[in-house]
Amino acid sequence: MKHLKAFEDALGEIHGEGRYRVFIDLHRHRGRFPKATARFEDGEREVTIWCSNDYLGMGQDDDVANAMHEAIDSFGAGSGGTRNISGTTRYHVELEKELADLHGKEGALLFTSGYVSNEATLSTLGRILPDVIIYSDSLNHASMIEGIRRSGAERRIFKHNDIDHLRALLELDDPARPKLIAFESVYSMDGDFGRMEEICDLADEFNALTYLDEVHAVGLYGKNGAGVAEMLGLADRIDIIEGTLGKAYGVMGGYIASHTTVIDSIRSMASGFIFTTSTCPVMAAGALASVAKLRTDEGRRLRADHQSKAALLKQKFMDAGLPVMPSPSHIVPLLVGDPERCKALSDTLLFDFGIYVQPINYPTVPRGTERLRFTPSPVHDEVMMDELVAAILAVWKQLGLEQAA
Ligand code: PMP
Repeated sequence: MKHLKAFEDALGEIHGEGRYRVFIDLHRHRGRFPKATARFEDGEREVTIWCSNDYLGMGQDDDVANAMHEAIDSFGAGSGGTRNISGTTRYHVELEKELADLHGKEGALLFTSGYVSNEATLSTLGRILPDVIIYSDSLNHASMIEGIRRSGAERRIFKHNDIDHLRALLELDDPARPKLIAFESVYSMDGDFGRMEEICDLADEFNALTYLDEVHAVGLYGKNGAGVAEMLGLADRIDIIEGTLGKAYGVMGGYIASHTTVIDSIRSMASGFIFTTSTCPVMAAGALASVAKLRTDEGRRLRADHQSKAALLKQKFMDAGLPVMPSPSHIVPLLVGDPERCKALSDTLLFDFGIYVQPINYPTVPRGTERLRFTPSPVHDEVMMDELVAAILAVWKQLGLEQAA
């Protein structure tokens, strides 16, 4: 093949930086989450999954799986093309209605993933508001960064959660120009919350639109699982809410919820919506069942269990003298601070103890803050947690990592 050397060089660089990615082959058994079978070249073993973003185990929920079965039996596999060409199904329409209602917005628009929803929406906003300035939190997800870049809009990056810095940037710009502030409700690597109320106040003061990524919060926070904006009573101050159906809802897909005119213009203009095959009906059916279920008392029970499991794991790490990072949310990051030892810790936990947790290294997090990121769910029990802590302590010592007093 031509130009192969360039590909080899690029890979060589990635290997050299320890960033080469290897995916584990996991066989998840229906209804047995968080247990799964990991398959290696020389055999297989049962593992406990500790790093899934299927935060509530909805990917294994019977109501969700049954809804998907029904949809495939009645509609078949694919959607047949873009919604422009192949039309839509009642699942797409009902899901969009359900999501709009969930967030208390007039409309919602479904995309094939959360990534696409951010990228497609933000990149289109630059065309709708040609003079817009976009203010973006420095820890925003890659999909927002990419969308903002492609929007062609002028952009200002404010220091993570730094309200004074955001204000200073807003003050420097022409008050007459349209503005949009893009941020997240839960930052997935540190587990901290965006400073939503203060950002909404600034947005009002400077006449800016608010764009909120609730990907790590939908299904998990608020009375109906609509996210942190619902929990804080701020949803009506967020102009565009973006979410995923692939994490707490356990399926796949992404969406935005907003004013009908905003939804209609994105629907009519965003390449990432117009020119791609729409979500399979089976996915939309599963997501619809999951969103609806998490709005009920059963959802509220799962959310309460989820929070208490996260709190319990943090406490167990602290009691064991392990350096758990100060995350106020359901995400439990354990600081290792060194890429090789982070990888070695993860490997040893997997091969010697049947514990699956991915190392999080640069560039996902800054160098020196390499970590393991744990996401306990309602179905992780205390026995699993005690096994986990004992295993980490054993490997921690072997690797010469420091423990708190
Ligand atoms: N936003 C954030 C903050 C994310 O962490 C992710 C995925 N990790 C996405 C958007 C993309 O969502 P999806 O996985 O549904 O594409």
